[in-house]
Amino acid sequence: MTGITEKNTGEAVSEFTLPDGCMLCGGAVTIRSTPGNGAHSYCPHCHWLSRTRLRMRKEGLEIAYATQAFA
Ligand SMILES: [Zn+2]
Repeated sequence: MTGITEKNTGEAVSEFTLPDGCMLCGGAVTIRSTPGNGAHSYCPHCHWLSRTRLRMRKEGLEIAYATQAFA
């Protein structure tokens, strides 16, 4: 997964823009991660809002949408 732009706000909240991360329209989604409140993704194109799970890996950031079934 490449092309993730990380923008640190200086606080505990992180925002990422994930190109073609939208499962519905394939557009770019904004991922906002807040400690204690999990992460949400929002697509400004089709207004798709979803909870996500973020995992930090050596290769980069892994994002799993809550609407996807994963073990
Ligand atoms: Zn979309």
